[in-house]
Amino acid sequence: MSRKARPYLFYDTTSAVCTTCLRVIEAKILLKDGKAYMEKWCPAHGTERVLVSDDADYYRQCRELWIKPPEMPNTFNTRMQYGCPYDCGLCPDHMQHSCLTLLELTDHCNLRCPICYAGSGPERAGYRTLSEIVCMLDAIVANEGEPDVVQLSGGEPTLHPDFFAVLDAARARGVRHLMVNTNGVRLAQDREFCARLSEYRRAFEVYLQFDSRRPEALKEMRGADLTGVREQALQHLNEFDISTTLVVTLKKGVNDEEIGDIIGYALGQSCVRGVTLQPIQDAGRVQGYDARVHRLTVSEIRRRIAEQSGVFTAADILPVPCNPDTLAMGYALKVGGEVVALTRYLDPAVLVEGGRNTISFEHDGELRRRVFDLFSTNHSPASQANCLAELMCCLPRVSAPAELTYHNVFRVLIVQFMDALSLDIRALKKSCIHIVQPDGRLIPFESFNLLYRDGRAGLLRTLRHEVVRATRARRTS
Ligand code: SF4
Ligand code: SF4
Ligand SMILES: [Zn+2]
Repeated sequence: MSRKARPYLFYDTTSAVCTTCLRVIEAKILLKDGKAYMEKWCPAHGTERVLVSDDADYYRQCRELWIKPPEMPNTFNTRMQYGCPYDCGLCPDHMQHSCLTLLELTDHCNLRCPICYAGSGPERAGYRTLSEIVCMLDAIVANEGEPDVVQLSGGEPTLHPDFFAVLDAARARGVRHLMVNTNGVRLAQDREFCARLSEYRRAFEVYLQFDSRRPEALKEMRGADLTGVREQALQHLNEFDISTTLVVTLKKGVNDEEIGDIIGYALGQSCVRGVTLQPIQDAGRVQGYDARVHRLTVSEIRRRIAEQSGVFTAADILPVPCNPDTLAMGYALKVGGEVVALTRYLDPAVLVEGGRNTISFEHDGELRRRVFDLFSTNHSPASQANCLAELMCCLPRVSAPAELTYHNVFRVLIVQFMDALSLDIRALKKSCIHIVQPDGRLIPFESFNLLYRDGRAGLLRTLRHEVVRATRARRTS
């Protein structure tokens, strides 16, 4: 008698949260028709099936090949008490230190974007005091020693009255690379501000919001036509040669057909070192978002880059080993007016397994270490260029440029922040993008948006109480 088989491969189990009640629930990872799904089951709200990757081969590569031992912070800030994700953080069960730490200077903003995760706007007055910010910087240093990347964020951080004192305080604490996450309005309107900013340009980068070059898309996502603002901001950033990354929030059906155009535009700007693509997450004030229509996975964006850019193929965009579930990265070299993806320089016989087009590390630990060093989110443009030059040196038969500076390196990075629908707690434990709190906690950005932002304290308390009650019930039974 032949038995009936399920129409999928059962790949793994994990934990997730119910999209309706946010309770931690069981989940399975299933592979079906070349795609990877997470199937979740909540006793109260039933079963949900979520697409986690539309490329099962890529998903398996992330899980099986692009992993490394977790790198720890110097200290942990909370203890394990209620279980993940109720103990953030970082608690000792977290599996990666803070490659990048966000520090929100204010909730105030000169825009009021319909998709703001922080719920910022002109009506939200008030700034964190300098002394509070200094304490938060000290908390990052206590965890990280010399923090790799600190990103000043908000609200709109350039509006903070002590903005330059904050930059000084970060520098004085040995932050290796400082970023400012900005909507660009002040940079466009205030040339003198940019001139002063340029005094900090060593190990400094502007993370410039840049979702689209089309007014309609900008109006939908940002509530205003910001095309002129972006151009003016870039004009100033080019003038003062301030390293810049263009940051694109991607909403399927709105701006996902513009990826190639934005990469092409970025390559033409002398100050721009790369493009970061962030699929929209359902968090904060996000309005007009329907996961069934607007959601994008990392593998879909990877394919879009290949289809649209003319520079990168899908095989050039590789998982980032700190957290391969949510991060992917590709490099191109800009040399003599030409732009060539990094993997084109790699000898396939040595590095790339022809058929599967994946990097074969097993035979060369040193090579693996250098590739993993490069494919990491803890870089500045300068450290990236150094790392890339070192990798090139250790490759046989490579005809790479003798000297590389950050002017030659262009990076494409995909950063997916999981939301209630897509959260896989296994992947959350490897999150390396954290947000510092006034009390010194460093919380993974995804769990922060889900459970720890303003207005969520009551929900978190309830969920923790349930854990306590369930534990007591188990002990007494
Ligand atoms: S996400 Fe990390 S820090 Fe937060 S509870 Fe889980 S393991 Fe701990
Ligand atoms: S997304 Fe950024 S620019 Fe828009 S309102 Fe929020 S903080 Fe301001
Ligand atoms: Zn539920």
